Amino acid sequence: MGCGTSKVLPEPPKNIQLDLVKIVEPHLALKNDQYKHFITDNGLIDSKVHSPAPPYSNGFSQSNAESADPRKHKVAKYRAKFDPRVTAKYDIKALIGRGSFSRVVRVENKASKQPYAIKMIETKYREGREVCESELSVLRRVRHTNIIKLIEVFETQERVYMVMELATGGELFDRIIAKGSFTERDATHVLQMVLEGVKYLHTLGITHRDLKPENLLYYHPGTDSKIMITDFGLASARKKGDDCLMKTTCGTPEYIAPEILVRKPYTNSVDMWALGVISYILLSGTMPFEDDNRTRLYRQILKGKYSYSGEFAGPLQFSKAY
Ligand code: ADP
Ligand code: MG
Repeated sequence: MGCGTSKVLPEPPKNIQLDLVKIVEPHLALKNDQYKHFITDNGLIDSKVHSPAPPYSNGFSQSNAESADPRKHKVAKYRAKFDPRVTAKYDIKALIGRGSFSRVVRVENKASKQPYAIKMIETKYREGREVCESELSVLRRVRHTNIIKLIEVFETQERVYMVMELATGGELFDRIIAKGSFTERDATHVLQMVLEGVKYLHTLGITHRDLKPENLLYYHPGTDSKIMITDFGLASARKKGDDCLMKTTCGTPEYIAPEILVRKPYTNSVDMWALGVISYILLSGTMPFEDDNRTRLYRQILKGKYSYSGEFAGPLQFSKAY
C-alpha cells in the first residue's frame, strides 16, 4: 500500500526543504515489468490475478516457440539471471514477488525437495548494493519466530541471491484486501505477532524503517498462521558506541513518521509510527494518510491530520509498495 512501487531510499541527511525529499524511482526496466507472473510447478505461466494460463509446455525450457512469445522469453531471461551455483542446488519454480531492485522466486531444494524463497538483488546500481548490504547485515544477525529466516547466500559481481525460509500464506496486504477490515480481536492478534518481532529487533538495536502490510508475510495459508517480518533493505542496525539516533531519510511515503520528514535525528520509534498506520488500516480498511501528491501527503502526516470513522468505508483501492 503506497505510492505505486516506489520507496524513499536512503539519502544522506541534508538541510533542505521537505518537498525536495529525493525519491529514487525503481530502475526503468524493473518498473515497467508486468506485475507478478507465476510459473507453476508444471511449467505453465499463470498470473496472480488468475487470468487464463497460456498453454506453454515448459516455462524454463528454450524452444523456437519461446522466442516468439514475449512472456516465455521473459521466463528464460529470469532463468539466465540465476548463477549456476544456485540452479545446481535449487529448482526455480515461480516468481512470487518483486521490488525496486529485487525479484523473489519460489524454489525447491533439489536434494531435500524442501521449498524456499530466493530474493535476487541487482547490485549493479549503488542503491541496490546499499539495500542488499542492509538486508544481509540484519538477516545474518537475527533469529526469531516472527522474522523471516536467512538460510544461505550466493554472491556474484552483479547479483546477490538470498535463500530464505518460504512464507506460503501471502502478504498481510492481500488478507486486508480480501477481508476489507479486521475485527479488533483479529487485528490485535496480528499486531501482537508483529510487535514481538519488532521488540526483538529493537532490543538488538535494529530499526526496520519499512514496516507495512506488504512486508508482513503469513507463514502458511491458514487463518491461524503466524506472521513474519521481511524486507530489511531499509533497516538500520546500531553499531557499538553509536547513539540511537538515525538521520537518513527513507521509508515508504504513507508510513513515514513526521520526524523523518522534518529531517530531525530520529529513533526506533519510527517503527511504532508505522505500526500505528498499520493498526489504522487493519481496523478501518482505509489509509490514514493518502494523497497522490507527495507534498500534500507529507503535509497530512506532519499535521497528524486523519479521521477515523471506525467502519470499513467502501471498496479498497490500494496499490502495493514494495
Ligand atoms: P523489496 O525490498 O523489493 O520490497 P521484499 O523482500 O519485500 O522485496 O519482497 C517482495 C515481495 O516478495 C514480498 O512483499 C512478498 O510478497 C514476497 N516475498 C519476499 N520474501 C518472501 C518469502 N521469504 N516467502 C514468500 N514470499 C516472499
Ligand atoms: Mg518489500
